[in-house]
Amino acid sequence: MKQPEILYMIIPCYNEEEVLHETAKQLKEKYQDLIKQQSISEKSRIVFVNDGSKDKTWQIIESLHKEEPTLFSGINLARNSGHQNAVLAGLMTVKELCDMAITMDADLQDDINTIDAMVEKYYEGNQVVYGVRNSRETDTFFKKFTAESFYKFMKAMGADVVYNHADFRLMSKRVLQELSNFKEVNLFLRGMVPLIGFQSCNVYYERHERFAGESKYPLKKMLAFAINGITSFSTKPLKMITFLGLIMSTVSLIAFIWAFITKLTGYSEIGWSSTICSIWLIGGLQLFCLGIIGEYIGKIYHEVKQRPRYIISEFLNKEE
Ligand code: UDP
Ligand code: MG
Repeated sequence: MKQPEILYMIIPCYNEEEVLHETAKQLKEKYQDLIKQQSISEKSRIVFVNDGSKDKTWQIIESLHKEEPTLFSGINLARNSGHQNAVLAGLMTVKELCDMAITMDADLQDDINTIDAMVEKYYEGNQVVYGVRNSRETDTFFKKFTAESFYKFMKAMGADVVYNHADFRLMSKRVLQELSNFKEVNLFLRGMVPLIGFQSCNVYYERHERFAGESKYPLKKMLAFAINGITSFSTKPLKMITFLGLIMSTVSLIAFIWAFITKLTGYSEIGWSSTICSIWLIGGLQLFCLGIIGEYIGKIYHEVKQRPRYIISEFLNKEE
């Protein structure tokens, strides 16, 4: 059999003190199994990325690392940078140390038994393995509805994402190296990874309920995430504006002809209301369009600054 390769797990954690012990315990068991089966090397690690938590998350990570330095590693970010940045920080830190990396949330919503299948698919030659959930029965109606609309809307807006795939995925070292060449600041990993290409496949799993604690993605963050995903990956909204403008011009042409005819036929009681209505309509449309353009300008603003996307203050890792 081939030499087992090194797997690094990247787990972003933001105020996850309630679940961390359980996550660590379950992942440890999984790793022990995989190492025993010679699926992964003993040099494999589980890396918790503390994303500026306000609770005891980092202390827990430190103690896990102390207890088992050859299993648990920790990255401490200087402040809260957001889920996507935390994941990237982890991936970029370990990209030279591993052969493959899996990213997974800390809350045990993703089924860790899928890891076996992911690793297997990797050995079959896949450079990216997407974890795709096949049901949302445990999600609340609201979460299910918003999340599914999110994927459909993203697709309609021209941002190509894998349906029902969040950030539970395996990537090979090769893919991580390519990912490091993506210098954008507005991160939307699930849109970026498919752009890298290479052979990829999906594995399906049941999504569980959050083990403990509450979602760190309230509606406000979710909306911001969706808008970011669309405006970072597609210029379709800009094209829609042009189209809208075209329609509006046609409509106004018809309105003009209509006004002209009524004038000629003497029924020129063209009222104040229609005038005021069109002023409101046009004004509204213009504002809407300006808003979308502004969204893109805002993006350019952030990109040209080329700020670092995360700052690591500590990296606890024991290499053999
Ligand atoms: N997370 C993070 N930084 C943040 C928000 C969330 O690192 O600013 C982590 C969080 O600890 C979890 C993952 O991102 O491991 C997904 O968050 P959550 O489970 O709250 O999102 P949901 O599953 O509800 O979409
Ligand atoms: Mg979650």
